[in-house]
Amino acid sequence: MDSTDVAPDLAAARRSLEGLALGDAFGERWFPLFREPRKAFDEIRARRTPHEPVWHWTDDTALARALHRVLDDHGHVEQDRLALYFALAFDADQARGYGHGMHLLLPQLLASPADWRTLAPELFEGGSLGNGAAMRVAPLGARFHRDLGHVAGQAALQAEITHAHPEGIAGAVAVAVAAALAVRGEFTLSRVAGRTPAGTVRDGLLRAVDVPFATEPWKAADLLGNGQRIRSDDTVPFALWTAARHPEDLEAALWATAEGLGDVDTTCAITGGVVGAVTGVDGVPDEWLRRREPLS
Ligand SMILES: [Mg+2]
Repeated sequence: MDSTDVAPDLAAARRSLEGLALGDAFGERWFPLFREPRKAFDEIRARRTPHEPVWHWTDDTALARALHRVLDDHGHVEQDRLALYFALAFDADQARGYGHGMHLLLPQLLASPADWRTLAPELFEGGSLGNGAAMRVAPLGARFHRDLGHVAGQAALQAEITHAHPEGIAGAVAVAVAAALAVRGEFTLSRVAGRTPAGTVRDGLLRAVDVPFATEPWKAADLLGNGQRIRSDDTVPFALWTAARHPEDLEAALWATAEGLGDVDTTCAITGGVVGAVTGVDGVPDEWLRRREPLS
């Protein structure tokens, strides 16, 4: 099927982007920069809303917006254009918490966007297997939910610009498929695993299938990873487990994800993008929406 043949669901894409940005901004509040981990954990367990008046979103949202814009403009992942938009987002504000690899790569793409083809595979000797391609992709899955094959293909195309390693790409495919399935009312972890390329991300998803939802989230994070290693396979299984645990309640989903700590802005961005694709952000407390940095 040609990429232009899949009718986009723009409303679902927007809901997912709002949820992603909310998760990112909420999750960032629990970073050690703002709260030492014991205090963060206690406050999360007490469901105490972070008191700061402005919750800034981070690189997860900055790059998700860039991807969203390219899809709005072109209808599909136009890779060289996306490389440029990623680089422009980085250039506009480098203090959004980008990882080491992106600090190396994105300035080079600003000068020469098409060079992602040679530069991305050279990162970390074999391409990045980090969670950066997964953290930005849920709105793409929501947008193209009517064709899961298209979702997987477009997710991979946007991933390889920065994350050339197969596991970096697999994480993005998994999250995009999860968001698409959520919008379709078909989201389960085993279905996501069934559409994820073989490897450590899929292995993690299959382990997540076997973690009962009665498990406390921090224990699930112990079993599945919480993103602390910033790898895709350390991040995606837990973030999707909490999304599957709370598919109709964004607030509950984000609290559960936050309990895992680790790379908590990114795990919450992933969960928020998947659950938010269905719920939107209207169900969360007004205070959360007032505090989250606006999207545009
Ligand atoms: Mg971030």
